[in-house]
Amino acid sequence: MKEVKIRDIEVINTAPEGINLTVVKVLTTEPELYGLGCATFAYRHEAVTKYILTYLKPLMVGRAVNTIEENWALMHQNAYWRNGGIENNAIAGVDLALWDIKGKMANMPVYELLGGAVRKAVPVYRHVDGSSVEEIVDQVQYYQSLGVKHLRIQSGGYGGGLDLKAPKTAPVGALDGIYLNSREYIRKTVDLFDKLRAKLGFEMDFVHDVHERISPAEALVLAKALEPYQLFFLEDPLPLDQTEYFKLLRAQTSTPIAEGELFNNPKEWRDLISQRLIDFIRVHITQVGGLTPARKLAILAGEFGVRTAWHGPGDMSPVAHAANIHLDLASPNFGVQEWSGIEPPNFVIQELSHQKGALLEVFDGLPEFKDGFVYPNERPGFGVLINEKAALKYPCKTEVTTWTQTRNRDGSLVLP
Ligand code: MG
Repeated sequence: MKEVKIRDIEVINTAPEGINLTVVKVLTTEPELYGLGCATFAYRHEAVTKYILTYLKPLMVGRAVNTIEENWALMHQNAYWRNGGIENNAIAGVDLALWDIKGKMANMPVYELLGGAVRKAVPVYRHVDGSSVEEIVDQVQYYQSLGVKHLRIQSGGYGGGLDLKAPKTAPVGALDGIYLNSREYIRKTVDLFDKLRAKLGFEMDFVHDVHERISPAEALVLAKALEPYQLFFLEDPLPLDQTEYFKLLRAQTSTPIAEGELFNNPKEWRDLISQRLIDFIRVHITQVGGLTPARKLAILAGEFGVRTAWHGPGDMSPVAHAANIHLDLASPNFGVQEWSGIEPPNFVIQELSHQKGALLEVFDGLPEFKDGFVYPNERPGFGVLINEKAALKYPCKTEVTTWTQTRNRDGSLVLP
């Protein structure tokens, strides 16, 4: 095999929807051959960019493109200290680009390199958030009309709070933030699913995201109370620092559990999977370092009957969405894919359709939504292209995010 080497590594930052996206372009010694990866860490894009250009580029230029395992281990070990979010996303950018290149060299979509498709398309769940049962029912019926079979149902933001101001009920001088009343949130959530099932029956598969915001004891109360409504899964009921509580949760509730959005390294998921304490693993594949570790995780999960439900939020470029879909297609133990959506737009994004147009202006070859399923295109690699000139029209913003300032009723910070 002719040895093709990495010639250069570039970073393209763009925010066509107002969300910072970071795309890595790995150029090779073959003039026309390059790969695209995703290194998006929306709240730290400048740090990731610096990491790639200052540390990974000099490390990787001149190395073979085909030895992905070797290259991944090299990047992972190079800084000695490892498994941080900035580092893992940076590595994922190069890793995904190398898989894209490998697909192009083989003239095959990446899912073919993973063993081939075990399904023709990927069922996805979309996100519904309304302030009343009526509003939520409307949204559910809209998505039903589009063929969607799984929906994540939230009311008033994660944990039931959206307002960034300290409420009157907080102590005098309490700082601003998203204030939670966890007991009220639990009561309202159970009541919401009771009404939805009464109105809509049990045909739709519902997911609910706790977003780690309540205590382990409260998570147990919620999971047990939701049993009659037969969720597809309860998402991230516990923070990653409290995963030992899954033993307790598992023993006491039949509500299926999905966990892992914030996971960074294999130590965090190994016991949960091998002890069968969760039903779905849902890591963010760039946060764990790219396709190379994610495909190993998918296989490990499959051995223990745990299904995959990769994180698929808006702060992920179409390259990473495509990577999710390719892995989903080739994984026998795939469960469902979160789809923040390109088409059809969700309710919030619908009002920003000009910005959705911008995403399509910058990226070409996005996986396609049709009747509740998402299909990849059949181009080699991940099949996503970027228009670099158009990307320049939508510069990223460097701001300190505020939504992570979530607070208890007494004003103290809780995990977001
Ligand atoms: Mg989540």
